[in-house]
Amino acid sequence: VSGLTGPDRSSQAASDPPVPARTWRLADIYPHTEAWEEERERLVARMAELDALQGRLAEGSHTVLAALELLFDLHRLAGRLHTYASLMADQDLRAPGPQAMKENIVALYSDLAARAAWVDPELLGLAPETLARHLASEPRLAPYRRYLEKLEKRRAHTLDEAGERLLGLSQLIRGTGETVSGLLRNAEIPWREITLSDGTTLSVDANGYTRARTLPHREDRLQAFQAFHGVLRAFRGSLGATVYGSTKEHVFSARARGFASTLEAALHPNEVDPAVYHMLVREVNAALPSLHRYLRLRARILGVEPLAYHDLYPPLVPEVKVDYSWERARETVLAALAPLGDEYVDRLRHALTDRWVDVDPRPGKRAGAYVNDGSYGCHPYMLLNHQNDYHSASTLAHESGHLMHSWYSQEVQPLPTSRYVIFVAEVASTFNEGLLLRHLLAATDDAEQRLALLGHHLDNLRGTVFRQTMFAEFELEIHRRVEEGEALTGESLTDLYFDLLRRYHGVEQGVMTIDELYGNEWGFVPHFHYNFYVYQYATSYVAATALLRDVIRRDGAAVERFLEFLRQGSAQPPVDLLRSAGVDMTSPAPIQATIREMEEVMDSIDDILARRER
Ligand SMILES: [Zn+2]
Repeated sequence: VSGLTGPDRSSQAASDPPVPARTWRLADIYPHTEAWEEERERLVARMAELDALQGRLAEGSHTVLAALELLFDLHRLAGRLHTYASLMADQDLRAPGPQAMKENIVALYSDLAARAAWVDPELLGLAPETLARHLASEPRLAPYRRYLEKLEKRRAHTLDEAGERLLGLSQLIRGTGETVSGLLRNAEIPWREITLSDGTTLSVDANGYTRARTLPHREDRLQAFQAFHGVLRAFRGSLGATVYGSTKEHVFSARARGFASTLEAALHPNEVDPAVYHMLVREVNAALPSLHRYLRLRARILGVEPLAYHDLYPPLVPEVKVDYSWERARETVLAALAPLGDEYVDRLRHALTDRWVDVDPRPGKRAGAYVNDGSYGCHPYMLLNHQNDYHSASTLAHESGHLMHSWYSQEVQPLPTSRYVIFVAEVASTFNEGLLLRHLLAATDDAEQRLALLGHHLDNLRGTVFRQTMFAEFELEIHRRVEEGEALTGESLTDLYFDLLRRYHGVEQGVMTIDELYGNEWGFVPHFHYNFYVYQYATSYVAATALLRDVIRRDGAAVERFLEFLRQGSAQPPVDLLRSAGVDMTSPAPIQATIREMEEVMDSIDDILARRER
């Protein structure tokens, strides 16, 4: 569960052999590959047991229990097998053996899904009262209560056999928009190459664009933006058709299943009320003056007037180099997390020193950072590519949040409720990043270091809360248009996106300027095919910030509520879990708290700048 703020850089070519203490001990899952192979064979054999239960769920609670126990046990084994193979593969992507093992389990997963396809429909074939009676009379069904509850919520949107068959068949004609968009962006669009001021050349594809956005020389950034958006402009007809195609699919599914809107359909599986989405969009719009203050501050610090769209990404102040060796990063993060209590810190220390983490970059190793918690009953594993800088330390704090969330949750919850859903997945990780930042701010009086940290905080907030909400609003509007029978074209998408860009960034109010060409930016965002996904980046950040502000006040009850939230996994719907932890995502309060935080950070920066000018 990663990717929001985790880095995505390629492995450094380190020629030193790996330090064993800083690599994974995979024997915690299986002692050796032969044991993995034996378990795989056992799993394949046991899948046949599912067939014996088909058609028998009406017999009574004993067959329902048997089917659910078997189903989840098969998933537990498949998860373990997959985790082992996947971690093996990520240690060295060049080795063919582990890749084949991984592909083998992916195929096995689809066999399992096909084999078990009858279970949910047959459960739904039982009356709600029958299932309720089983739950009341058979205590061993308790771990499956949430599974059955979620199934029950699907009942109203489940069609008869012929309808479900037809919807199943529609899989054949789905996903083309997303696939074509990916092919265009990643393979077929001839991206331009530019020559930077230092004489090096840069291919401005999506990765090059992301890198070029932060370059210190304004001319370099301008050149990259013009090149990138110019190409997007040339391909916007095709790119627009892919977004239109994906959006039509969402409308088709929502209508076929009888949802009132695409938004309701998309949020339904995660049990999130559309009101949460609308609240986010409304409150972030109300907070635009704070974004405009930030943009003016950025113009002032960077010394550019007027601020332009290609000036949004270079760091506010150059990072003050602090050498975060692995040991130093680890000890700093552990010290920063002290507000969560000794038990939390001791457990994390154990995880970070007992070979649960693959620390260093090396040739062939998977890039980026993540936590894999797929081996229920064993412990989670963490992958890093530690580079001895602040970014790496922050990534460690982030991934530690995921790791501890998984560990606490798997310890307390049975498998069916141990996996937390995406809506809450980034809360624990963002929370820990925030604790690290506060810890470092408290530890230094150095004006430059403080500016760097505060600037980093603001940039994050802009990128996560404002930009992702702008994306969320864009998605809301394109779905509304298709629902109302309007076609989407590259041109209309660009007009819409440009309007949003102007409104969010205060162009009318003279806050900054945005070249009309940049309205084509939607074309490179893969998330616009994901069906209302990105808002969760913003809500996670907001929830984490609101929770953190309570914990920082040394509110002991807030800490305990937060730890309980980690232990709950998915034992309740996500909005209920957060409410128990102390944030009500259906109210404007958490977003308002986040904006207060932003204003306080800007006050601190103003103070530092004023003192510097005196
Ligand atoms: Zn993450």
